[in-house]
Amino acid sequence: MKLGIHSMVWVGDWSPASARHAIESSARAGYDLIELAAINPAEFDVDLTNRLLADNGLEASVSLGLDAATDISSEDDDVVAAGHRRLREALALVRDTGGDFLCGVIYSALRKYEAPATERGRENSRRTLAELADEAADSGITLCLEFCNRYETNIINTTQETLDLIATIGRPNVHAHLDTYHMNIEEADMREPVLAAARAGKLGYVHVGESNRGPLGAGTIPWDDFWGALREAEYDGVVTFESFSSRVVHPLFSNSLAIWRTTWDDNVALAADAIAFMRKGLARP
Ligand code: MN
Repeated sequence: MKLGIHSMVWVGDWSPASARHAIESSARAGYDLIELAAINPAEFDVDLTNRLLADNGLEASVSLGLDAATDISSEDDDVVAAGHRRLREALALVRDTGGDFLCGVIYSALRKYEAPATERGRENSRRTLAELADEAADSGITLCLEFCNRYETNIINTTQETLDLIATIGRPNVHAHLDTYHMNIEEADMREPVLAAARAGKLGYVHVGESNRGPLGAGTIPWDDFWGALREAEYDGVVTFESFSSRVVHPLFSNSLAIWRTTWDDNVALAADAIAFMRKGLARP
Protein backbone atom coordinates (compact mmCIF):
# COMPACT_ATOMS: atom_id res chain seq x y z
CA MET A 1 0.00 0.00 0.00
CA LYS A 2 1.14 3.53 -0.72
CA LEU A 3 0.23 6.50 1.49
CA GLY A 4 -0.23 9.75 -0.37
CA ILE A 5 -0.99 13.38 0.34
CA HIS A 6 -2.79 15.95 -1.78
CA SER A 7 -0.59 18.82 -2.94
CA MET A 8 -3.10 21.45 -1.75
CA VAL A 9 -2.32 20.57 1.84
CA TRP A 10 0.89 22.47 1.13
CA VAL A 11 0.52 24.86 -1.80
CA GLY A 12 -2.04 26.54 -4.03
CA ASP A 13 0.18 26.73 -7.13
CA TRP A 14 3.10 24.88 -8.71
CA SER A 15 5.77 27.54 -9.02
CA PRO A 16 9.31 26.16 -8.58
CA ALA A 17 9.35 27.26 -4.94
CA SER A 18 5.90 25.77 -4.29
CA ALA A 19 6.79 22.48 -6.01
CA ARG A 20 9.91 22.18 -3.89
CA HIS A 21 8.05 23.01 -0.69
CA ALA A 22 5.23 20.55 -1.39
CA ILE A 23 7.43 17.63 -2.41
CA GLU A 24 10.01 18.10 0.35
CA SER A 25 7.31 18.53 3.00
CA SER A 26 5.47 15.38 1.84
CA ALA A 27 8.64 13.29 1.96
CA ARG A 28 9.67 14.70 5.34
CA ALA A 29 6.28 13.74 6.78
CA GLY A 30 6.80 10.15 5.58
CA TYR A 31 4.45 9.94 2.59
CA ASP A 32 5.19 7.73 -0.43
CA LEU A 33 3.27 9.76 -2.99
CA ILE A 34 2.07 13.28 -3.71
CA GLU A 35 -1.15 13.81 -5.65
CA LEU A 36 -0.65 16.70 -8.04
CA ALA A 37 -3.74 18.89 -8.35
CA ALA A 38 -3.54 19.46 -12.09
CA ILE A 39 -6.40 21.87 -12.62
CA ASN A 40 -4.32 23.23 -15.48
CA PRO A 41 -1.96 20.35 -16.29
CA ALA A 42 -0.13 22.21 -19.06
CA GLU A 43 1.26 24.63 -16.42
CA PHE A 44 3.36 21.96 -14.70
CA ASP A 45 7.13 22.03 -15.14
CA VAL A 46 7.67 18.31 -15.72
CA ASP A 47 11.47 18.34 -15.59
CA LEU A 48 11.57 20.24 -12.31
CA THR A 49 8.82 18.07 -10.82
CA ASN A 50 10.62 14.86 -11.82
CA ARG A 51 13.92 16.07 -10.38
CA LEU A 52 12.27 16.95 -7.06
CA LEU A 53 10.36 13.65 -6.95
CA ALA A 54 13.55 11.66 -7.58
CA ASP A 55 15.60 13.68 -5.06
CA ASN A 56 12.96 13.03 -2.40
CA GLY A 57 12.09 9.41 -3.24
CA LEU A 58 8.46 10.30 -3.89
CA GLU A 59 5.95 9.08 -6.49
CA ALA A 60 3.20 11.20 -8.03
CA SER A 61 -0.38 10.74 -9.09
CA VAL A 62 -2.50 13.34 -10.85
CA SER A 63 -6.05 14.46 -10.13
CA LEU A 64 -8.26 17.19 -11.42
CA GLY A 65 -11.84 18.34 -11.64
CA LEU A 66 -13.06 19.57 -15.01
CA ASP A 67 -14.78 22.96 -15.21
CA ALA A 68 -17.79 24.27 -17.15
CA ALA A 69 -15.66 25.01 -20.23
CA THR A 70 -14.20 21.47 -20.28
CA ASP A 71 -17.23 19.47 -19.09
CA ILE A 72 -17.27 16.18 -21.06
CA SER A 73 -20.84 15.55 -19.88
CA SER A 74 -21.95 18.68 -21.76
CA GLU A 75 -24.30 18.47 -24.75
CA ASP A 76 -22.04 20.96 -26.56
CA ASP A 77 -19.54 19.08 -28.76
CA ASP A 78 -16.99 21.91 -28.57
CA VAL A 79 -17.03 21.81 -24.77
CA VAL A 80 -16.65 18.02 -24.82
CA ALA A 81 -13.69 18.32 -27.21
CA ALA A 82 -12.08 20.94 -24.93
CA GLY A 83 -12.55 18.52 -22.02
CA HIS A 84 -10.93 15.70 -23.92
CA ARG A 85 -7.95 17.96 -24.70
CA ARG A 86 -7.65 18.91 -21.01
CA LEU A 87 -7.78 15.25 -19.98
CA ARG A 88 -5.13 14.35 -22.57
CA GLU A 89 -2.86 17.03 -21.05
CA ALA A 90 -3.44 15.54 -17.61
CA LEU A 91 -2.74 12.06 -18.96
CA ALA A 92 0.54 13.33 -20.41
CA LEU A 93 1.45 14.73 -16.99
CA VAL A 94 0.81 11.32 -15.37
CA ARG A 95 2.91 9.59 -18.04
CA ASP A 96 5.74 12.12 -17.93
CA THR A 97 5.98 12.01 -14.11
CA GLY A 98 6.03 8.20 -14.14
CA GLY A 99 2.66 7.88 -12.45
CA ASP A 100 0.06 5.11 -12.61
CA PHE A 101 -3.18 6.99 -11.91
CA LEU A 102 -5.27 9.81 -13.33
CA CYS A 103 -8.11 10.39 -10.89
CA GLY A 104 -10.68 12.87 -9.64
CA VAL A 105 -13.73 14.39 -11.31
CA ILE A 106 -12.70 13.55 -14.85
CA TYR A 107 -16.19 12.55 -16.07
CA SER A 108 -17.99 15.93 -15.65
CA ALA A 109 -17.39 19.38 -14.26
CA LEU A 110 -16.80 19.71 -10.54
CA ARG A 111 -19.70 21.97 -9.69
CA LYS A 112 -23.27 22.18 -8.49
CA TYR A 113 -25.62 21.31 -11.37
CA GLU A 114 -29.13 22.72 -11.54
CA ALA A 115 -30.66 19.54 -13.04
CA PRO A 116 -29.90 15.85 -13.54
CA ALA A 117 -27.48 14.87 -16.30
CA THR A 118 -29.08 14.28 -19.70
CA GLU A 119 -28.71 10.99 -21.55
CA ARG A 120 -26.81 12.73 -24.34
CA GLY A 121 -24.47 14.30 -21.78
CA ARG A 122 -23.89 10.93 -20.12
CA GLU A 123 -23.12 9.35 -23.48
CA ASN A 124 -20.61 12.12 -24.27
CA SER A 125 -18.90 11.43 -20.93
CA ARG A 126 -18.85 7.64 -21.46
CA ARG A 127 -17.53 7.91 -25.01
CA THR A 128 -14.79 10.38 -24.06
CA LEU A 129 -13.69 8.26 -21.09
CA ALA A 130 -13.57 5.11 -23.22
CA GLU A 131 -11.30 6.88 -25.72
CA LEU A 132 -9.17 8.35 -22.92
CA ALA A 133 -8.89 4.90 -21.30
CA ASP A 134 -7.53 3.45 -24.54
CA GLU A 135 -4.99 6.29 -24.72
CA ALA A 136 -4.08 5.69 -21.05
CA ALA A 137 -3.66 1.95 -21.61
CA ASP A 138 -0.82 2.61 -24.02
CA SER A 139 1.14 4.03 -21.04
CA GLY A 140 -0.12 1.53 -18.46
CA ILE A 141 -2.18 4.24 -16.74
CA THR A 142 -5.45 3.62 -14.88
CA LEU A 143 -8.30 6.14 -14.84
CA CYS A 144 -10.05 6.34 -11.46
CA LEU A 145 -13.46 8.02 -11.36
CA GLU A 146 -14.05 9.88 -8.08
CA PHE A 147 -17.74 10.11 -7.36
CA CYS A 148 -18.72 13.25 -5.50
CA ASN A 149 -21.63 14.31 -3.37
CA ARG A 150 -24.70 15.70 -5.15
CA TYR A 151 -23.54 19.31 -4.73
CA GLU A 152 -20.36 18.71 -6.74
CA THR A 153 -21.56 16.61 -9.70
CA ASN A 154 -24.77 15.12 -11.13
CA ILE A 155 -23.19 12.13 -12.92
CA ILE A 156 -22.13 9.77 -10.09
CA ASN A 157 -22.87 10.28 -6.39
CA THR A 158 -22.40 6.76 -4.99
CA THR A 159 -20.09 3.79 -5.35
CA GLN A 160 -22.77 1.74 -7.11
CA GLU A 161 -23.44 4.50 -9.65
CA THR A 162 -19.69 4.63 -10.26
CA LEU A 163 -19.45 0.87 -10.77
CA ASP A 164 -22.43 1.02 -13.16
CA LEU A 165 -20.81 3.81 -15.18
CA ILE A 166 -17.52 1.90 -15.29
CA ALA A 167 -19.35 -1.19 -16.58
CA THR A 168 -20.88 0.78 -19.44
CA ILE A 169 -17.50 2.31 -20.36
CA GLY A 170 -16.25 -1.25 -20.61
CA ARG A 171 -12.51 -0.71 -20.31
CA PRO A 172 -10.28 -2.74 -17.93
CA ASN A 173 -8.23 0.31 -16.88
CA VAL A 174 -11.17 2.38 -15.58
CA HIS A 175 -11.62 1.96 -11.82
CA ALA A 176 -13.53 3.57 -8.95
CA HIS A 177 -12.03 6.24 -6.72
CA LEU A 178 -13.70 6.30 -3.29
CA ASP A 179 -13.46 9.33 -1.01
CA THR A 180 -14.68 9.17 2.60
CA TYR A 181 -15.80 12.83 2.53
CA HIS A 182 -18.25 12.15 -0.32
CA MET A 183 -19.19 8.66 0.93
CA ASN A 184 -20.11 10.16 4.29
CA ILE A 185 -22.68 12.39 2.60
CA GLU A 186 -24.18 9.94 0.10
CA GLU A 187 -23.64 6.32 1.23
CA ALA A 188 -25.74 4.46 3.80
CA ASP A 189 -22.59 3.12 5.45
CA MET A 190 -18.82 3.16 5.03
CA ARG A 191 -18.19 -0.60 4.74
CA GLU A 192 -20.41 -2.17 2.07
CA PRO A 193 -19.45 0.23 -0.75
CA VAL A 194 -15.75 -0.55 -0.23
CA LEU A 195 -16.44 -4.28 -0.36
CA ALA A 196 -18.71 -3.92 -3.41
CA ALA A 197 -16.01 -2.05 -5.34
CA ALA A 198 -13.42 -4.64 -4.31
CA ARG A 199 -15.69 -7.55 -5.32
CA ALA A 200 -16.05 -5.95 -8.75
CA GLY A 201 -12.26 -5.75 -8.98
CA LYS A 202 -12.66 -1.99 -9.37
CA LEU A 203 -11.39 -0.44 -6.13
CA GLY A 204 -8.70 1.64 -7.78
CA TYR A 205 -7.90 4.64 -5.59
CA VAL A 206 -8.88 6.02 -2.17
CA HIS A 207 -9.08 9.50 -0.67
CA VAL A 208 -9.38 9.84 3.08
CA GLY A 209 -10.88 13.15 4.15
CA GLU A 210 -12.78 14.22 7.26
CA SER A 211 -16.46 15.17 7.29
CA ASN A 212 -15.58 18.90 7.42
CA ARG A 213 -12.41 18.51 5.30
CA GLY A 214 -10.31 19.31 8.39
CA PRO A 215 -7.85 17.10 10.34
CA LEU A 216 -8.43 13.32 10.20
CA GLY A 217 -10.16 12.02 13.32
CA ALA A 218 -11.58 15.42 14.29
CA GLY A 219 -14.93 15.00 12.49
CA THR A 220 -17.78 12.50 12.27
CA ILE A 221 -16.49 9.90 9.77
CA PRO A 222 -16.91 6.35 11.22
CA TRP A 223 -13.27 5.48 10.63
CA ASP A 224 -13.29 2.02 12.20
CA ASP A 225 -15.87 0.87 9.63
CA PHE A 226 -13.88 2.30 6.72
CA TRP A 227 -10.45 1.03 7.78
CA GLY A 228 -11.98 -2.34 8.60
CA ALA A 229 -13.47 -2.57 5.10
CA LEU A 230 -10.15 -1.70 3.43
CA ARG A 231 -8.44 -4.42 5.49
CA GLU A 232 -11.23 -6.90 4.76
CA ALA A 233 -10.95 -6.12 1.03
CA GLU A 234 -7.17 -6.60 1.28
CA TYR A 235 -6.79 -3.30 -0.56
CA ASP A 236 -3.15 -2.59 -1.32
CA GLY A 237 -3.37 0.44 -3.60
CA VAL A 238 -2.98 4.15 -2.89
CA VAL A 239 -4.62 5.89 0.09
CA THR A 240 -4.25 9.65 -0.20
CA PHE A 241 -4.94 12.16 2.57
CA GLU A 242 -7.03 15.12 1.48
CA SER A 243 -7.71 18.16 3.65
CA PHE A 244 -8.34 21.76 2.77
CA SER A 245 -8.28 25.00 4.69
CA SER A 246 -8.51 28.65 3.70
CA ARG A 247 -4.84 28.80 4.71
CA VAL A 248 -3.93 27.33 1.29
CA VAL A 249 -5.78 28.91 -1.62
CA HIS A 250 -6.07 28.11 -5.31
CA PRO A 251 -8.51 30.59 -6.87
CA LEU A 252 -10.51 28.01 -8.85
CA PHE A 253 -10.09 24.90 -6.72
CA SER A 254 -10.83 26.53 -3.35
CA ASN A 255 -13.99 28.17 -4.65
CA SER A 256 -15.30 25.08 -6.46
CA LEU A 257 -14.85 23.05 -3.23
CA ALA A 258 -16.27 25.88 -1.08
CA ILE A 259 -13.19 26.09 1.13
CA TRP A 260 -14.36 29.13 3.06
CA ARG A 261 -13.10 28.33 6.56
CA THR A 262 -9.80 27.81 8.32
CA THR A 263 -9.92 24.18 9.46
CA TRP A 264 -6.18 24.17 10.29
CA ASP A 265 -3.22 26.55 10.39
CA ASP A 266 -0.26 24.22 10.79
CA ASN A 267 -0.04 21.88 7.79
CA VAL A 268 3.17 20.25 9.06
CA ALA A 269 1.43 19.02 12.20
CA LEU A 270 -1.69 18.17 10.17
CA ALA A 271 0.26 15.94 7.74
CA ALA A 272 2.18 14.21 10.53
CA ASP A 273 -1.00 13.51 12.51
CA ALA A 274 -2.77 12.27 9.37
CA ILE A 275 -0.15 9.71 8.40
CA ALA A 276 -0.04 8.39 11.97
CA PHE A 277 -3.87 8.13 11.91
CA MET A 278 -3.81 6.29 8.58
CA ARG A 279 -1.11 3.84 9.66
CA LYS A 280 -2.94 3.06 12.88
CA GLY A 281 -6.25 2.48 11.12
CA LEU A 282 -4.79 0.30 8.40
CA ALA A 283 -2.69 -1.78 10.81
CA ARG A 284 -5.31 -2.54 13.45
CA PRO A 285 -5.85 -6.33 13.72
MN1 MN B 1 -11.34 13.57 -2.99
